[in-house]
Amino acid sequence: MMGRTHDLASFTALSYVVATQPPQSITLATGITSLLICFVGGLTPDIDQPTADLWRKLPAGSVIGRIFHPFLGGHRYISHSIIGILFFSWFSKFLLTRVGQVLLVDVNMVWSAFMIGYISHLIMDSFTQEGVPWLFPIPFRFGFPPFKVLRIKTGGTFEKTVVFPGLLFLNGYIYYSFYNKFLDLFKHYLK
Ligand SMILES: [Zn+2]
Repeated sequence: MMGRTHDLASFTALSYVVATQPPQSITLATGITSLLICFVGGLTPDIDQPTADLWRKLPAGSVIGRIFHPFLGGHRYISHSIIGILFFSWFSKFLLTRVGQVLLVDVNMVWSAFMIGYISHLIMDSFTQEGVPWLFPIPFRFGFPPFKVLRIKTGGTFEKTVVFPGLLFLNGYIYYSFYNKFLDLFKHYLK
């Protein structure tokens, strides 16, 4: 999937979780940080790709991307697996607990947003022809539907004309259906 599809998928997943399990109260700083970190989480699995969107968005990112590349074994390996989820879940918590105290944000909430973005990436990639090695190091790539020909080509017409607009529509649906929940959340901000 393309970077912008992952961005939108992360946002959709976060919207859905917030709508269905709204936090009791949340500060503006935590809300904004969670949203930004969710996008970072949604692009993180592709750090094994030196040309990844995440690297392009960071200063000197392409250099760092090339350094990371050999360690993660090329595109769609360890960072696209359950081991990758566990590693980044630990690593992001480790970083956030240190940075969170400075930023004065709810670390658990920001961390959850990161993981929502991260996992949404792997789910989205599972719909593509390349599939996802969920059980790395077992060298098998899982995909849905199981037949490769039926899956989506990354950057192809289907992704641009059906998947991306479909996700936009889904967001509209979530915000429409859970309008009151989101309104409540904003009222909490204003207190
Ligand atoms: Zn990917």
